Amino acid sequence: MSEPYQIIVGLEVHVQLLTRTKLFCGCTTVFGAPPNSQVCPVCLGMPGVLPVLNRKAFDLSLRAALALNCEIAGFTKWDRKNYYYPDLPKNFQTSQFDLPFSSEGWLEINAASDPRKEYLPKRIGIFRAHLEEDAGKNLHDESGRGGDTKVDLNRTGTPLLEIVSKPEISSGGEARSYVEEMRLLLREIGVSDCEMQEGSLRCDANVNVRIEQPDRSFAVTPIVEIKNLNSIGSIERAIEYEARRQYEQFGRDGIRLSPGNKTTAGWNDAKGITKVQRTKEESADYRYFPEPDLVPVVVEREAVAAIRESLGELPAQQRQRLQQSPYSLSAYDAGVLTAQGRRVVAYFEAAAGRAGDAKSACNWITNEVLGSLKQSERRFEDLPISADELGNLIVEVKKSGLPMNKAREVFNVMSNEGGTASATIARLGFVVVADVVQLRDIIRKAIAAQPQAAADFKAGKTKAADRIKGMVMKETKGMANAETVNKLLLEELSDAG
Ligand SMILES: [Zn+2]
Repeated sequence: MSEPYQIIVGLEVHVQLLTRTKLFCGCTTVFGAPPNSQVCPVCLGMPGVLPVLNRKAFDLSLRAALALNCEIAGFTKWDRKNYYYPDLPKNFQTSQFDLPFSSEGWLEINAASDPRKEYLPKRIGIFRAHLEEDAGKNLHDESGRGGDTKVDLNRTGTPLLEIVSKPEISSGGEARSYVEEMRLLLREIGVSDCEMQEGSLRCDANVNVRIEQPDRSFAVTPIVEIKNLNSIGSIERAIEYEARRQYEQFGRDGIRLSPGNKTTAGWNDAKGITKVQRTKEESADYRYFPEPDLVPVVVEREAVAAIRESLGELPAQQRQRLQQSPYSLSAYDAGVLTAQGRRVVAYFEAAAGRAGDAKSACNWITNEVLGSLKQSERRFEDLPISADELGNLIVEVKKSGLPMNKAREVFNVMSNEGGTASATIARLGFVVVADVVQLRDIIRKAIAAQPQAAADFKAGKTKAADRIKGMVMKETKGMANAETVNKLLLEELSDAG
C-alpha cells in the first residue's frame, strides 16, 4: 500500500427485515405508501398501548445471525434508548443494549485490490447483531422558501437488524466488498431485499487511521462515524476521502484518539466530501433501561437448530464448492457466478451438466446470458432459454465447430424467441463446412486464384496467408472452422509449388 497511513473501518449495517408487518404492532410495511397511512396507536407511541413482538421478525434475525456465524444467546431482552426527535413519537427507540440476541460472528469477503480479477478471502469479525425498531422520516421543504417540515411515521416501528462489524476493514474497497457480500447473503436467505435506494439497507462507517511516527510508534486518529451512506459506491468513496482528510488533519493538529472525541459526519456525494456534524453521544447519554412492556425472549436450542437446518447453502460455501470437482472453476469464476445468486448457480450447474463442460457453461452464462439480460433490461427468469438448451447449444457448437460469432447469433435468436439450439441453427442455415476434403478443395482454389499472395507467403511474408484465408471464409460464408482452415492452409501453402 502506497498511502502513508492504514485505514481502520468498522461498519454498522441496518437492514429492514422482510416482514409483512412492523416489529411491535400489526401495521404493514409496504414501501411508498401515502404518508402516515400505515400507523396505529402502538407505533405512534400513544399512552397506555402495549407492544407485542413480531415472531417472524425475530426468526428472520436468527436466520441472519446464524448465516453470519454468530453465537446465539439463550436469553435476550429489550431496552429503551431514550432520545427526543420529531420522527420518534415515543421519545425512545425499542432496541437491545447489553443482552443482544447474537454476538461474535464473521463474514468472509473478497479483499483483492481488483475484485474483478481475483478472489482473496478475508474474514471480517462481527461484534453483534441485534434487533430494533426504525424511526420515521422528516420531510423538509427543499424549495428554499422556508416551508414547513412534515413528518411521515409509516417507517416508525419497522423491524431493523443492526449488524456491527469489528474494525477489521482496511480500505474503501474492502468495505464495498463487505456490504456486497452482506447484501448477497441476506437476500439469498430471504431476510431482507436490501434495496439501498428504498432504505432497506443503510450503512454507517466508523473510520480512523493509524500513522507510523518517526520513532516507529503508531498514532491513531479520533474516530469519525459517517452516517447514512446509501449507495455502495458512496461507502467506498466516503471512507477513502475521510481517511485522507484525517491523515492531513493529524499533520496539522496532532490530535489522537481519546475517550469522548468521537464525532459524526455526513457525506456529500455530489461534492465528494465529508462534513463533521456533532460530537457523538456516548451510550450513557441515551439512558438505556430495560423495556418494561416486553417480556424477555428465551431462545430454544431446537428452534435455533431448525433455522440453521433451513438456511441451505450459503454464498461462501457455494463459492468453495464450485471450485471443486466436477466443476473445478477458478476462484474468480466461482465468485462471479455466486454473486448472481442461487438461481443463476443452479442454472449454471444444469447447463454445465448437459454440456459436459463447466468452463464453457460459465463463460456462456457470465458473458452472453448476463450480458444479454443487461442489454435488454430483462430479468433472469424472463430468459426463454432453459439451462438444458444452453447446454445443448454448447454441445452443438463444439460438435460442429460453429465459429463463435455465428454461435452468438444463434444465442441471440434463442434469447428473443426461445426454441432449441439445433432447430435454430438449422433455421438460420448455419451449416459448417467441416469436411476436410471439401475445405482442402476450397483452399486449393483460393491459392490458385491468388498466386501473388502464395508467392509472398513463400518469400516469408506470413501475413499474406490472411488474404487467402479471407477468400476461403468468404467462399464458405464464414461457416468454416477457423482453426481447421488455418491448419489446412499452412499445409497447402507449404506443399504447393
Ligand atoms: Zn402500528
